[in-house]
Amino acid sequence: MKKKIAIHWFRQDLRLQDNPALYHASQHQNVLPVYILDDLNAGENQMGAASKLWLFHSLSSLSNSLNGKLFIANGNPIEVFQNLTQEYEIEAIYWNRCYEPWRIKRDIQIKEQLFSIGIEVKSFNGSLLWEPWQVQKKDGTPYTVFTPFYRKGCLNAPAPRLPYNLPEKLNLCDISNLDANIKKLDLLPQIPWDAEVIKSWEIGEAGAQKCLTTFLEHGIENYKEGRNFPAQQSVSRLSPYLHFGEISPNQIWSACMGREMTDHMDHFCSELGWREFSHSLLYFNPDITYQNLQSKFDTFPWNSDLTLLTAWQKGQTGIPMVDAGMRELWQTGYMHNRVRMIVGSFLVKNLRLHWKHGERWFWDTLFDADMANNAASWQWIAGCGADAAPYFRIFNPVTQGQKFDPKGHYIRRFIPEISALPDKYLFAPWEAPEHILQEAHINLGKTYPLPIVDLKQSRINALEAFKLLSL
Ligand code: FAD
Repeated sequence: MKKKIAIHWFRQDLRLQDNPALYHASQHQNVLPVYILDDLNAGENQMGAASKLWLFHSLSSLSNSLNGKLFIANGNPIEVFQNLTQEYEIEAIYWNRCYEPWRIKRDIQIKEQLFSIGIEVKSFNGSLLWEPWQVQKKDGTPYTVFTPFYRKGCLNAPAPRLPYNLPEKLNLCDISNLDANIKKLDLLPQIPWDAEVIKSWEIGEAGAQKCLTTFLEHGIENYKEGRNFPAQQSVSRLSPYLHFGEISPNQIWSACMGREMTDHMDHFCSELGWREFSHSLLYFNPDITYQNLQSKFDTFPWNSDLTLLTAWQKGQTGIPMVDAGMRELWQTGYMHNRVRMIVGSFLVKNLRLHWKHGERWFWDTLFDADMANNAASWQWIAGCGADAAPYFRIFNPVTQGQKFDPKGHYIRRFIPEISALPDKYLFAPWEAPEHILQEAHINLGKTYPLPIVDLKQSRINALEAFKLLSL
């Protein structure tokens, strides 16, 4: 007789606490926890190199928490499940819902196929405070502007559920899975970039909890203003943990609600609201990763000079605030939000390169690369998204640096070759007199690049080009 089991399929919920699907699966006598790397259905939405690196460590951590009993496979999930039916009687499969269009399409098909062979699927909300269809305008259409979405829609909808407890009992099946262990998923990068980049992170569920506690104890008290200053420790850095589901938004929300509701706390909660908004945009506009939300941008004459793109990617544009951001990304797998806006605006407006180039580079290099947040944010920066920045909003990387990194700590950390410059010239080294450059051991064009564009002229050109769209 085949052994009866229920499967919990881990996807973007790599945690044991507040895991609704796992909690319900645990009511069964035997539970098989499964992770499947599915590059096949993902197609061009396969995880980027940084995400795969994070996943490697996150799966190792999850597997430890499950006493090594996580069953890991690589391939088409329906085939993995069909193979498991050869040996086991599968009573049901549990999962928490995902919202990327390719996963929704795949999950619907899998559900139908499993149903046709008598296996029930039970799905839950484990990743969002409010699912997209719960927050819509009175006329039943989705919101396209953030403030009413969050203040009118989310905050008037039923409050997010409280976190689930850990399952009281979890009888895990022990399947020998030596053929497909984590190393065989081929998640580690080909170039030796990973050793340094993961140093700033404790990946996994325990790391996520520590990150939340540290932020609520030290970061939140100055969040509203401090979140703009990249050298300060005033943001949570919870984004990769949220993306991989090592922590749920409900755990964060509930921890916030248990504390004093200051302006800082309210602002932080509204940032979680932006995450909900992006997911709603993606759900109702599944093409958002490659299609301008405003079609008038379809004919925009983008620049095709890819040498500019390479300089941007490498943090070699000669504009310190931009280069510091791009190097932070490369060195830590993360970039501060203020700087994401600066480097994004520079790419799209000053270089006039298509926002998709930026979206793809972030997808490959960010630990928190997230289809909804990334695509919605890039469209916002380019001005073609929902509730987007108007075309004339062009961030000036020099004044942004002077305002938000006034002592130059952030720039000096990531661009050591110009760290000896006095603050006055740090944000625009090309304006420094020759003797100042010499004293700081800088040979512009050799030890640090000259600017790849003229900021003033490229701004004027961008304004003219973008203005034509709004006529
Ligand atoms: P905190 O300020 O501590 O905010 C807490 C949480 O709120 C974040 O972890 C995140 O989940 C959410 N959040 C904050 N700001 C935003 C926002 N603008 N949009 C959506 N959610 C938000 N965020 C990603 O998670 N993945 C991405 O791929 C991503 N790509 C981006 C690309 C561009 C061009 C820009 C401008 C922003 C992008 N963001 C992305 C949004 C934002 O920059 C990050 O969520 C934030 O910097 C993460 O740092 P944190 O956790 O310290 O944020």
